[in-house]
Amino acid sequence: MGSSRVPRIAITPMLSLSFFLIIIWLASSPVQAAPVVDVGGAEVELTDFQVGYFTGDARLLDYEAVREQTFEASGNIAPVGTGLQATWYRIALHNSGTDEKQLYLHLPQAYQIRSIEVFEERADKLIGQTHVDLNDASNHPLMHLGTVIYPFSVPVGETTVFYVYSQLYSHHYFAAEVFDLKHSREAVSRGGLDIAVLAGMLLALVFYNCLLFLASRKQENILYSLYLVSGLIWISLSYGLISRVFNAYGDSVFILNLSGFTILIFLLLFMMAIFETRRFYPTEHRFLQGMLAVIVAGFCYGLIDLIAMLEVISSLVALTMVVTSLVSVSLLLKGNPLIKFFLIGHLFFVLFNGLAMMYYKGIAEPNYFNSHGVVLGIVLEALMLAFIISYRIRVLEKIRSQQAELKRQAATDPLTAVFNRRYFMVEGEQMARQAASKGEPTSVIAVDIDNFKTVNDTYGHQAGDRVLIEVAEIFRKISRDQDLISRFGGEEFMILLPGTDKSEAQDYAERIRGSVEQHVTAAGNGVSVRVTVSAGIAEMIAASESLEKALSRADNALYEAKAAGRNQVRCAP
Ligand code: GH3
Ligand code: MG
Ligand code: MG
Repeated sequence: MGSSRVPRIAITPMLSLSFFLIIIWLASSPVQAAPVVDVGGAEVELTDFQVGYFTGDARLLDYEAVREQTFEASGNIAPVGTGLQATWYRIALHNSGTDEKQLYLHLPQAYQIRSIEVFEERADKLIGQTHVDLNDASNHPLMHLGTVIYPFSVPVGETTVFYVYSQLYSHHYFAAEVFDLKHSREAVSRGGLDIAVLAGMLLALVFYNCLLFLASRKQENILYSLYLVSGLIWISLSYGLISRVFNAYGDSVFILNLSGFTILIFLLLFMMAIFETRRFYPTEHRFLQGMLAVIVAGFCYGLIDLIAMLEVISSLVALTMVVTSLVSVSLLLKGNPLIKFFLIGHLFFVLFNGLAMMYYKGIAEPNYFNSHGVVLGIVLEALMLAFIISYRIRVLEKIRSQQAELKRQAATDPLTAVFNRRYFMVEGEQMARQAASKGEPTSVIAVDIDNFKTVNDTYGHQAGDRVLIEVAEIFRKISRDQDLISRFGGEEFMILLPGTDKSEAQDYAERIRGSVEQHVTAAGNGVSVRVTVSAGIAEMIAASESLEKALSRADNALYEAKAAGRNQVRCAP
């Protein structure tokens, strides 16, 4: 088919640039009469030649009338602007060779329009004629994968003239090519592989993001998927993939142009979700909302009169680009860490659509990049957005682990790594209440190292620290996962034992006391330190007692243990 290159709607990212380019284009188009093209050579592969284009209102003239008109020279593939409803063009082919030519007229953009009529004449006589209504084209004998192919012959020394009448939906790119049998076959089989590959990439991204959404339930993944689906539909439509794959044409396919609006809608919603504009950037959020309202209104109106809306869609795209770019710059100034990647993606989009514009307006020589500008712009931006999604996961993960670390630090004693007093009071209260609600007892134990001042005085403060660390370690070893150990201050610890009554707590305290008594702390420089602890136990009086009160009773019991000579366990009554 050889021309997946001309989409129907040139998405113009920069309105002002497009005006500028149109003016240059108008100024640079010389008005000439349409030439006659020679097809007498050994091989015929006309992909770049001159045809005649009727500049008046094509709808007003039938074949009989239009053949009396003058036609201006135009390239065989050329844009004819927006708002046109019909075009006439004229192709004159002369055979200067020595044998009759069997040739094929290709109309590769046929899938984009409403209907085509071809009138073939030789020596001013109509000798062939065909009409293809695109609403009923799926089984038409001349329709091949979106291209209308009209076979004809040119005898030696004669000239065949075609008048082609196209009825359009809205934007249209006039396109005609002429081939001999060999090149006709090549052209049909060649088409669209690159677009299929790019569409496949987008489809893979859609599936991947749906999976991400299922895993993370993050809104932005589903919005991004919908953006991709819209882009996929629009690209497949504009570059003929849908007509090729589904053999579908006409009104039923034309309505899919609404995807041009949904691309913008989901892009805006995606921005709001991923940058959390509602929460963090209310002013910018309002701008995005305003733009969204305009596009949604356009979409709704498009349901009624799509043709009218397609005439303004490039302006809407340009306006959306302006708004999203301004919002992006504003977020950049406010230090959003993701926005720079979004701007890069936007830059790709604007750049490639700018290249596409140069091609559509005939300012730049056609090459792969400008003829595929629109699709490349969409795909590159889509890849950048995918990168933003993954980068954001990384950023969020980092923040989450930092927060967890801060929380841990705020809750623990830096020397012994057991919980601190503040955490113990909050968490302990809750654990005690939970146990009480299950009808289970809770006990608390106050533990204090005996004569610790002497340890410091004898071996130094560092040795004292070492003892504190190892005593805490003993508590940890002996206790269960659900027990709450805290350093209350100095060399005093509090331990809360949920689901434990007074006598079990006493066993536990005895084990602690015995273990500490057995333990020898190596405090450096060959110094060994042994300490003992005293403990006071209180079982909480379910429902009626606060943790504070229970701790105070445990403290009193501890005081009794100290008074009784230390290295003992005492129980509060
Ligand atoms: P008692 O048997 O009556 O509890 O006597 P004690 O010496 O253990 O009690 P006292 O309250 O008189 O002394 C506690 C000492 O603990 C005083 C203080 O210097 C020491 N201390 C408090 N916090 C730390 C610490 O973080 N590291 C070290 N090395 N010593 C500490
Ligand atoms: Mg002490
Ligand atoms: Mg003390």
